[in-house]
Amino acid sequence: MTDYKYERMILAGLANAAGQSPALTQGAGGNVSIKTKDGRMLIKSSGCRLRDVTPEKGISLVRLESLREIIDLPEPDAAYMSEAVIKSTLPLNGKKEKPSVETCFHAMLGYAVVHQHSVYANFITCCEEGRTLAEKLFPEAVFVPFAAPGPELCMSIRKHAVKPIPDAGILFFQNHGLAVYARTTEKVLEMSRAVNEKIKDYFSLSDFTPDYIVGKYKTDNAVPAEMLSRAGLPEGKILTLDQQLYCNPAVMSGTDVTEDLKEIISVIIWLLEAYSARGLRPSFIQ
Ligand SMILES: [Zn+2]
Repeated sequence: MTDYKYERMILAGLANAAGQSPALTQGAGGNVSIKTKDGRMLIKSSGCRLRDVTPEKGISLVRLESLREIIDLPEPDAAYMSEAVIKSTLPLNGKKEKPSVETCFHAMLGYAVVHQHSVYANFITCCEEGRTLAEKLFPEAVFVPFAAPGPELCMSIRKHAVKPIPDAGILFFQNHGLAVYARTTEKVLEMSRAVNEKIKDYFSLSDFTPDYIVGKYKTDNAVPAEMLSRAGLPEGKILTLDQQLYCNPAVMSGTDVTEDLKEIISVIIWLLEAYSARGLRPSFIQ
């Protein structure tokens, strides 16, 4: 049996490029995948940073056929889909890691898939005017309404995508991020770069610098909740999926600001400042 050594090397390179800066993805967010000629898919494992993936670490192998059968059902059950991902996971390089929560939607798309929580894409996806801006700048893209990560997002993509799903495309996930897919890894990285740069240039957005952003608001030993409040986040409001997933009350009132948390709250502050300067309105998840 093949050990997919070549494919592991390709996937690690793709992951490292897709996660090379916190502007493109924060913490362990985002994921990448490639399909193999024998009906399998290599995908980033859950909980691993994109930039930390190596050919030996952070990669899972899944069987596509059984997964796609479930995704193609008229109304697949979310729990059943999650279970199917676990069942379709195969050992790779002598071990079995837990595949990304987004394995199902990767299975639906073309050869190479890059999903990022890019601040530039999220400038569009977290904005009231987001759908209109996406249609204006990227008429070929699909704007997917907010859905919980995993099976729900997969079903929302299935519902809104162009049918049949083309070999290459751009998907904006509301309040979440960007996914691009293409026939080659070179092309998919080129598409990701082009989308992010186009948004950054069009709106003259500043670079994303978490240390500087947090430094501005972290006076008087402010905890994360105070920093976000100072930056103009209304009480109880959630702007990004990462905020929903990781910023619970204990974390927000604690003094332990980990690297991941610093990046996640910097995104919220950066977005609020960018909207305020341009007269745009944030669109909250809740
Ligand atoms: Zn994501």
